[in-house]
Amino acid sequence: MVIVMQEGATEEQIQHVIDRVVASGFDVHRSTGASHTVLGAVGVHRDFDHRDFELLQGVREVVRITQPFKLASRQFKPQGTVIDLGRGVKIGGPEVVVAAGPCSVESREQILAVAEAVSKAGAKIMRAGAFKPRTSPYAFQGMGEKGLQLMREAADKYGLFVVSEVMDASQIQMMSTYVDIFQVGARNMQNYFLLRALGEVQKPVLLKRGMSATIEELLLSSEYILAGGNYNVILCERGIRTFETYLRNTLDIAAIPVIQKLSHLPIFADPSHGTGRRDKVSAMARAAVAAGADGLLIEVHNDPDHALSDGAQSLEPTQFAQLMSEIRIIAPAVGRRVA
Ligand code: PEP
Ligand code: MN
Repeated sequence: MVIVMQEGATEEQIQHVIDRVVASGFDVHRSTGASHTVLGAVGVHRDFDHRDFELLQGVREVVRITQPFKLASRQFKPQGTVIDLGRGVKIGGPEVVVAAGPCSVESREQILAVAEAVSKAGAKIMRAGAFKPRTSPYAFQGMGEKGLQLMREAADKYGLFVVSEVMDASQIQMMSTYVDIFQVGARNMQNYFLLRALGEVQKPVLLKRGMSATIEELLLSSEYILAGGNYNVILCERGIRTFETYLRNTLDIAAIPVIQKLSHLPIFADPSHGTGRRDKVSAMARAAVAAGADGLLIEVHNDPDHALSDGAQSLEPTQFAQLMSEIRIIAPAVGRRVA
């Protein structure tokens, strides 16, 4: 931990900070510069809260040097990771990349209709689940491999990349034929066996934040994939469970700038699962782009009222096209662009 004192911090304030740091079990190395005093605290610590030091009088900034995650950290890799999908689509570069499509693949007609609509509106990736992690075992579980075939066909017809959820390591090989990006769902964020298996594949992985996971836990999960040698990980904020019950989840927009500071990995936002309601999706998507998201994951259905899953949060194609034109205006204000 490094503690940077404010310019003009008094000797008494500095000494007080040193005493507190020593009392917490660290050795302190003091460096007195022309304008600032910097204190380096070294030691092995299981549990300390660096914010306790941030609040002390005369302290300007506290930097925690040892993060529990290493390969995912900006300290390890200061420049942002850019994932090149091919055909000019890069995630983590200046372009905000949008992945859109239904919650689940339901039929050939459905997936072709949605693929056409989202590609026309500017999406570069088609999302849809063929293996669905449903809360109830009696709910629609997805079309399986047949669904992936239909997705690939529709995506190829309209020049889209494919992202789809993998629920078990045993599906990886089969799915590799059809998908460009493996999605790990919120419920599997801490399925470490699956994460390790995805560390051994070459295709990018979109890792969704668990609904009760902290940012640190999300980054530690990404670490499992990175540690296996797969550096193409995209994080995704998809809403967390809070005391608020009005919406399905609380989309943690602040996680976007927090993660961008801590990690070099690109971060997407999913306002569909983040809100659970179609009429709230666009506002949160706009907010996510304004907050600096590298991409969006949006549920779109050609007939949401009859969708087999997540119809209530799926945009109609016209609403999606409208959203795309809105984020085309917002993105340049934060130094980004949308296709
Ligand atoms: C999904 O993207 O369809 C999905 C199931 O999301 P999550 O894992 O975030 O619930
Ligand atoms: Mn869904």
